[in-house]
Amino acid sequence: MTITESLTLMLALLYGATQLWWAGKRFGAIAATISLLLALVISASLTLLVGTAIAIAGLALLQWRKPAFAKGDLRINDLRAGCQNLIVLSLLIVAIQYTVNSLMLKAGIADPWVARPNVVDAFLPIAGAIEVKGIVSLGLWDQNHPAAAVMLGIVLLTGLLCKRAFCGWACPIGLAGEYLYKLRKRVIKEELMPPRWLDWPLRMLKYLLLAGFIYLVVGMPAMGIPGYLQGNYHRIADLKMALFFLTPGLVTLCCFALILMIASWRRQGFCRYLCPYGAILGILSFFSPLKIRRNQQECLIDKGMKCDKCTRACPANIIVHTKTTVRSDECQACMRCVAACPKKAALGFGLPGNHMLSARSLMIGVLAIMFFLPLVAWLFGYWDSQIPDAIRMQLLQVADHIGH
Ligand code: SF4
Ligand code: SF4
Repeated sequence: MTITESLTLMLALLYGATQLWWAGKRFGAIAATISLLLALVISASLTLLVGTAIAIAGLALLQWRKPAFAKGDLRINDLRAGCQNLIVLSLLIVAIQYTVNSLMLKAGIADPWVARPNVVDAFLPIAGAIEVKGIVSLGLWDQNHPAAAVMLGIVLLTGLLCKRAFCGWACPIGLAGEYLYKLRKRVIKEELMPPRWLDWPLRMLKYLLLAGFIYLVVGMPAMGIPGYLQGNYHRIADLKMALFFLTPGLVTLCCFALILMIASWRRQGFCRYLCPYGAILGILSFFSPLKIRRNQQECLIDKGMKCDKCTRACPANIIVHTKTTVRSDECQACMRCVAACPKKAALGFGLPGNHMLSARSLMIGVLAIMFFLPLVAWLFGYWDSQIPDAIRMQLLQVADHIGH
């Protein structure tokens, strides 16, 4: 684990622990802090220790400069935006570190002083799915990109537990889409919504893409998995992916242009129509016990008044004000509807029986799943890639000639 990963991880987890404290869950905060200290002792890692020290200093600075954010004492939408932006910022730092590492390898430096952050394997979901298949069918644990399987499992777990909160609270592509959409709205003010009859087939596109990826993984014979995982293509799958984005061909450029157009055309356009991750999380989210729930006794409508603020606030165009439970696969648990509701107890995100979660609790849950599990995986030796830099450097020189 590199210093950037250690710092990001500890920053997110310690921030989550402080949020538990400020939310009055003192026992939980102490238990979380003890778990982190234990992880630190078990790992005996200087990198993790340095990351923890910087994270503590950063949190102290945050407490001093922005006490409201440090205490999570923010409105729902500000809390979510803060969480998304910080995750994107950490990914940007990781991306810079990865790029510098790759450029050094490309330049023939076999022992680059900037280490490769293993979290980039999160962008190899198909490799991660093949690895999971290898674990399940053959008991084979990949050592080349173990973080790919870990991150895939983590993202899917968020869908099972807290609907598409990953999309609403953490996904960098979703946030980029939101900024693009806002930019477009500055130039063209109107909403450019597709007609209802077109919206549904467009939404199904992401399920088609997902079906294609599942076909690729399921269709791969189990006996072919060891060969694939030991093959040169898999060994530099991350570099191939980076090259794909950095040196795009004409078809790729056209696809990028289409994606940008869709993302700026309608809010959450990419998530809604094209993202295969959104599709699988949408399916898993049906099983999530946590959902947006409307308390009819408290809702203004049931008191004879007119109100549809929750529906109007929803970026996914879900009709909220007439439902008691929002089951839609498009719900990203963003809680904008809850923020817009004028009656505090009328709408919430939680379990049946009016057991609602605050936005802060949801954020703590997302941070815990997304950052604690990688820490555990790392402690068990299933995070760092075992490919020596010298081999990566050699393979990178001939990357154009390496295929599936
Ligand atoms: S229903 Fe509420 S939580 Fe779900 S996407 Fe719409 S605004 Fe967000
Ligand atoms: S915004 Fe609140 S009060 Fe209004 S319809 Fe929705 S749940 Fe009911």
